[in-house]
Amino acid sequence: MAVMKPVRATPASVLILGAGGLGCPAALALGAVSLARIGICDDDRVDVSNLHRQVLFGDQDVGALKVDAFARAMSRRFPKLAVEKHAVRFDVTTAAELAALYDVIVDGTDNFAAKFLANDAAVLAGTPLVHAAAVGWGGQLTTVPARGRPCYRCLFEEPPAAGVGPSCAEAGVLGPVPGVLGALAGVEAARLARRETPAFAGRLVQYDSRAMSVRTVRFNPNPLCSVCSPGARIRALSAAEYGPEGCIST
Ligand SMILES: [Zn+2]
Repeated sequence: MAVMKPVRATPASVLILGAGGLGCPAALALGAVSLARIGICDDDRVDVSNLHRQVLFGDQDVGALKVDAFARAMSRRFPKLAVEKHAVRFDVTTAAELAALYDVIVDGTDNFAAKFLANDAAVLAGTPLVHAAAVGWGGQLTTVPARGRPCYRCLFEEPPAAGVGPSCAEAGVLGPVPGVLGALAGVEAARLARRETPAFAGRLVQYDSRAMSVRTVRFNPNPLCSVCSPGARIRALSAAEYGPEGCIST
């Protein structure tokens, strides 16, 4: 039996986008990894209807800013961890600065515009990104490595047009599903923080809780990708690229 190597201190920092059903379990997975800093970006408040999947929050937090409730919960569990609160919207005015402040980003946002923006900000900053999304009974994960290729746009070239896909009200998500995907995203982010090889780079991992199945689609850098290819047209973040938010769910 192999001897387990001791876990070395990891003076790295991770930014979590969205303190929701994906971001909360990702943070719990990361709390035990001896990070230097963890940042949380969310401008929303805790809502009673989301408590079942936002596992860091309880009744006492309803109405509070999520970043405040997040910091309280994480500091209780991990007193040595520095938690940095960003109670701002993740948009073209904040994304580039946030992406440059951290060593790793976890995308736990809930809409297409934010996911494309997170990808582009990460690629342009050279910051590795773990993408996670959950809707209905399943979800998906992929990692954009530090070198930026392949990226989320290599697979999904543009955000969907308005009206394509379910509305936020129609989408919904089974409560425990983002817990699974968020925890896996946290483990992957810990791997990146420890400068280990990412497990999901060039792989789209699709999880379906009904079939209890995991499917992996491998993909290569798109030579015509609009943000990560040598001839990329996106050289800076512009609101015109991201259109309506559209709904993934969480
Ligand atoms: Zn790309």
